[in-house]
Amino acid sequence: MTHSVSLKPHNTFGLDHTCRELIAVKTTGELISCCLALYQAKEPMLLLGSGSNVIFCDDFEGTVVLVQTRGIEVATIEGYHLLSVAAGEDWHELICFCLEQGIAGLENLALVPGKVGAAPIQNIGAYGVELNDICDWVEYLDLSSGRLIRLNAPDCQFAYRDSIFKQQLLGSAVITQVGFKLAKAWQPKLDYGPLKALKNTNVTPKNVFDCICQTRMAKLPDPKTMGNAGSFFKNPVITNEQFSVLVDKFPSMVGYPQGMIHTKLAAGWLIEAAGLKGVQIGGAAVHKNQALVLINKDDATSDDILALAKHIVDCVESLFGVKLEAEPRLIAATGERSL
Ligand SMILES: Cc1cc2nc3c(=O)[nH]c(=O)nc-3n(C[C@H](O)[C@H](O)[C@H](O)COP(=O)(O)OP(=O)(O)OC[C@H]3O[C@@H](n4cnc5c(N)ncnc54)[C@H](O)[C@@H]3O)c2cc1C
Repeated sequence: MTHSVSLKPHNTFGLDHTCRELIAVKTTGELISCCLALYQAKEPMLLLGSGSNVIFCDDFEGTVVLVQTRGIEVATIEGYHLLSVAAGEDWHELICFCLEQGIAGLENLALVPGKVGAAPIQNIGAYGVELNDICDWVEYLDLSSGRLIRLNAPDCQFAYRDSIFKQQLLGSAVITQVGFKLAKAWQPKLDYGPLKALKNTNVTPKNVFDCICQTRMAKLPDPKTMGNAGSFFKNPVITNEQFSVLVDKFPSMVGYPQGMIHTKLAAGWLIEAAGLKGVQIGGAAVHKNQALVLINKDDATSDDILALAKHIVDCVESLFGVKLEAEPRLIAATGERSL
């Protein structure tokens, strides 16, 4: 345990805030006892995996618990591989492990940064697959009762970048373990972007994995060299009526059907169409190739990032009447805040 620790190495945006104490937990037992003790002491607490989906807005006046628990158990039943994975396992390394074991189904989510325990929280998704599609159950510590509870996937209320852990269970659940159910008969998902080129070929899970890795490395800035938190805004979902009014006015607007009555807009398209690509406030900037990604270009402060994010929200709203919402979690002095 240390006192007044820099959080800079623990967030991919590279923001230079501190917390009062930092505790790295290596076993599930430690994770449980540490979180229960902090909860009972009413100490502000923040769980952190790889810090790839947080923006520290201030110094954190409490304890950060770094989840570094390890362990992957594999079992098989007829037709499926079943995995039980500790919250602190690295997401991408889990995919590599699965491929080595001949277990497929996770490869579309290659190179999504972060730990396994954070993946259900915003139902991570990329290239046509969401965690939702492969998750069997999520086990969490219920802080108020001190009990471990296992929720089956349908009870996790998974939705686009959302789950019960961002709603009813916000602040009261510590994810300890995630279960996956992966079909032995692999069904490749090749409907998105560069994956389409693999259709009608003898495609293997490794081909999909390689294609995703190459695409992501070419498209997205690497947080190790350019601080960022991936997509800064969620893709807004509007009604089909609203979409048809907008598309009359802006014929090249991009929209994807979302169920029967909604359309999902591409937030990146909206930001680019508002002329905001490359715009900079202080040290924070909109990436010049990826309008959806805000970057730490030049020692950005959290105020720079928040000012830039608000400027984007205002410009997009006044042009299109659509309000963007931040995707990363904004962490203030004692807990989460909104933009
Ligand atoms: C370059 C880049 C690309 C990205 N691409 C994608 C993408 O394609 N798709 C996508 O969906 N996301 C993407 N993201 C976002 C990010 O990778 C995911 O949200 C990831 O799941 C975050 O994991 P983490 O361990 O870094 O979480 P953290 O940032 O450490 O934590 C995120 C939130 O979860 C909470 N939390 C963490 N662990 C636990 C736990 N065990 N129990 C309870 N609460 C916990 C934290 O308190 C925090 O509120 C990207 C991010 C970056 C930087």
